[in-house]
Formats: sequence, structure tokens, C-alpha cells
Amino acid sequence: MAEDLTTLLAHQMAARLRAGEVTSRELAEAHLARAHATDRGLHAWLSLDDDRALAEADAADARLAAARAAGPAALDALHPLHGVPVALKDLVSVKGGQCTAGSRILEGYRAPYDAHITERLHEAGAVILGKTNMDEFAMGSSCEHSAFGPTANPWDLGRVPGGSSGGSAASVAAFQTPLSIGTDTGGSIRQPAALCGIVGMKPTYGRVSRYGIVAFASSLDQVGPFGRDVRDASALLHAVSGRDERDSTSAPIPVPEDLVRLPSSDDEAAAWLRGRRFGVPREYFVAGMDPGVEARIREAVAVLAASGASVEEVSLPHTDYGLATYYIVAPAEASANLARYDGVRFGHSVRGGEDYLADYLATRGSGFGAEVKRRIMLGTYALSAGYYDAFYLKALKVRTLIKRDFDVLFEAGFDALVAPTSPDVAFRFGDKMADPVRMYLSDACTLPVNMAGLPGISVPCGLSEGLPVGLQFIGPAWSEAALLRAARAYEGATAGADWRQVLPRDLALLEDPGIATPAERAAAPH
Ligand code: GLN
Repeated sequence: MAEDLTTLLAHQMAARLRAGEVTSRELAEAHLARAHATDRGLHAWLSLDDDRALAEADAADARLAAARAAGPAALDALHPLHGVPVALKDLVSVKGGQCTAGSRILEGYRAPYDAHITERLHEAGAVILGKTNMDEFAMGSSCEHSAFGPTANPWDLGRVPGGSSGGSAASVAAFQTPLSIGTDTGGSIRQPAALCGIVGMKPTYGRVSRYGIVAFASSLDQVGPFGRDVRDASALLHAVSGRDERDSTSAPIPVPEDLVRLPSSDDEAAAWLRGRRFGVPREYFVAGMDPGVEARIREAVAVLAASGASVEEVSLPHTDYGLATYYIVAPAEASANLARYDGVRFGHSVRGGEDYLADYLATRGSGFGAEVKRRIMLGTYALSAGYYDAFYLKALKVRTLIKRDFDVLFEAGFDALVAPTSPDVAFRFGDKMADPVRMYLSDACTLPVNMAGLPGISVPCGLSEGLPVGLQFIGPAWSEAALLRAARAYEGATAGADWRQVLPRDLALLEDPGIATPAERAAAPH
């Protein structure tokens, strides 16, 4: 029987492409075929672009052939992602392609240009398969706020994959693509990575250009990678990072070449832990967290200690204010960013009302979903005269205090902080939809990192009642290379663990062509 190419990791694909054992076209075809065959029950994708992907794969193969003819140095010069398939969250612009941001209001809109990261991925030779599902405008923690219906979790098709980058996480966990791009404003890469049992990283604010990415909250949004292991995620981060003149908040800081040089040996990777110093913030073990999640995190911390790292309990005293502050700052920025959807310039447009204002209200009224409207109202209220000082300005001050908590610890010499990514494992469809605050609490352990602009990564650390748990490493600004080393070290130290052998338990069900869709599952009472 032919080997299933979709089970390979991206770095294994890279090695085989260079050796001439597989072509980029074969990789693209295998992943597209799997995505088409298995997505009815998952709904990870909003679009698959076979023609474009295969053309990109053929171009990658041609460059590979030329490099092979030119000799080993030319092959070495190719990016590790050359010829490797990647998925993009449907808020990344690809010239001429759809870009819905999970919203009806952008239905029919075609991106007039490539995002910076799209250009970078093309330069690296990556093959873009299509666009993944997401909560509308990246507002949510479950993918249930997508205007196009929810995505399921391949570990349990009755549960959410997390959000807002739920489609990107689920597609990687279900072997439809080895890599994907997400965005993280308050946890939207790390939390779905945790819930789907894969690796996801939010880089330092300014590491990746936001040019061509649909904006949610501009001072918090960051683009980042998903992969099935740390090396794959790191290579994808390397491909998309770096200064871009068109995003003034992207930093003129060199991209560390270490990102493509993480150790391949598990022992060598784990040896990095000796003498490192980790802090475990006590506030991140929130009341009401899943006891299985807490147990897995404590075990992971014990692994770090047993590998020669020192581990100390620390405090981030303003953590409690993170959620309240985030839900002032993020909606305030969103209310400003979403003002542009007026029915004139983008996508969805309702015409024929009494006057322009009537058309504007009808466009926005029918184009935005309930969660987006809630955020616009919250944000507009917080920014309105009379409330600006009491809410918005106050939130900015507390944001500084949250950032200072982290500064104090990193100045004291901690290499990184170790914490849960999410207080819960994947929850059932509908469980948190009726209560927005419960949904918001999913990000209690991730959003302070965005408030402080720091990098954070979630790696799988075991299972609780058969569902994946994510371990979060948080580092100082611009410490991605060290943070990825820490994550790779933990991966190396646990390489032989039994739980690493467990595949998402509902993967086989996805092969059934008559399977219920996530929308049907979400509608059925459980
Ligand atoms: N769940 C959070 C929110 O709804 C974070 C989302 C995100 O990171 N994009 O705002």
C-alpha cells in the first residue's frame, strides 16, 4: 500500500523533498485529497484552492530540480518550508482570493493584494492549500461564532476545537495540513492548539507584520504558527517573521536563524533544560480549573525539574484584572477597526433604503453576528465621552501594571514562565454560547501575555479524560528562539511518553462520507 504522506511532519517532508523521494505536487495532492475527503465532519476549511495550490507545488518542484542540479549548497539554501503545504486562517489576504474573517460582511470580497506573510510564504516556497474557519473577526474561543458554522475537534466531534483560530488548529490535528497560520489577540493560537493537542505560538508583538491581516484589536493582534511539533512551528515562524515597512509596529529586529536550527535529537534538546530557571505563576491555577488539566501541568513542571531546571512558584499579582482590562481594550480597538465595514468599500452591502444611513444600518445589522455587535457596543461605550477616562484610560493603566508584573520576573532572571494554556479541555458545542463571560474565561491564562506584548507557546503535555492538555511557556520580549528551545526541550524530555502515541480519537470517523456536520451536531441536544 502507498505510504500516507499526510502523516509526515513538515521537517520530514523537507528532507524527502531534498532527497528527491517525494515531490511537492505529491504532498499537495495527498493533503488536498485528505482535506476534501474528511472535512464534512470537521469543517476546518472555508475554502480549498486546488488549482492555485498545485500550481504553487509545481513551481516549488521546478525550483527544487534546479537547486538539485546546482548542487548541495543550492539545496541547502532553500527554506525548510520549500514545497511544504500550509493553511491560512481566513483573515490573511491572498491576492484575488476570498478573505471572510468568518463574517457575512466580507462575503464576496476579494483581497486586492497579498498580506506580508503571504509574500513571505511564497518566497519560502510554501504551498498554500486554502483558508480555514474562524470565529467572526477572531472574536471567540470556540469557532462557534463563525458565520459559516462551527468547526469540530478531531479528538471528539461533539466538542469545539477552541478559537478563534479553530479551523487552523483542527486541520493540523486532523492531518489535513502539516502547518497552518493563526492569529492571537487574547489566546486564539495557544488555546486552540491546547484543545487540539498540537503546538501553537503567539510571537512577541511586532515580530510578524500585520499588513494584509484583517484587524481585530491592533495593539494586541499577532500572527503565529501551528504545527504538530515544535520544530515545524518554529520553521513556519521563521518564514513569516521580520520587519515590514508597511506595518509600522513591525520591529526592525533580525529574525533569529536559530528558529530553523532546533535540535533534532530529543536528548540534545532536553539537555538544554539543565540550569534553566522557570517560574510557575500561582495565579494561573484559577479557581474552577479542570483537575485533570492541573494534574498534567504539575507533572510537566516536575519533568522540567527532573531534567535539571530549577522551578519556583512566582506571582503575577495583577493577573486577576487581565480579563476585565482586555474586554475594555480589545472591544474599544475593535469598534474603531470595524467602522470601515460600511457597505460601500467591502463585500456585503444592503442598498435601496431611504437614505445612506438606512443602508449603512441595514448592512451592518445583517452583516455582523451577535458577538461582533456585542463587542462593537462594548467598545463604543468604553470610548464614549464621559466614560473614556473611567474605562478606557483606566484599562490602559492596568495594562501597564500587568506588563510590569512580567518585567519584574524576567528582570529577576527567569528564563520563562510555565503555566496552563487553558483552564479546561475542549468543551461541548453550546456549553458556553449562552454565557459570554464563561466563554471569555477560556482565555484567562493567555490574554495577559497579549496585554504585555510577550511571546507565548502552547505544547501538548498529556491528556485529561482522553482530551489534550496544553502547557504554556511565556518568555520576555524577543525571546522566541529561547522559548522554542524550551518547548523543544520539554518535547525531547517527554518523547517516550505513552500519551504521545495517542492519536485524536475521532479521526477515523472523519473518513465516513455520510458523517454529521459540526453544524448538525451543534444543533442536536446532547
Ligand atoms: N477569545 C478572545 C476573544 O474573544 C481572544 C480572541 C483572539 O485571540 N483573537 O477576544
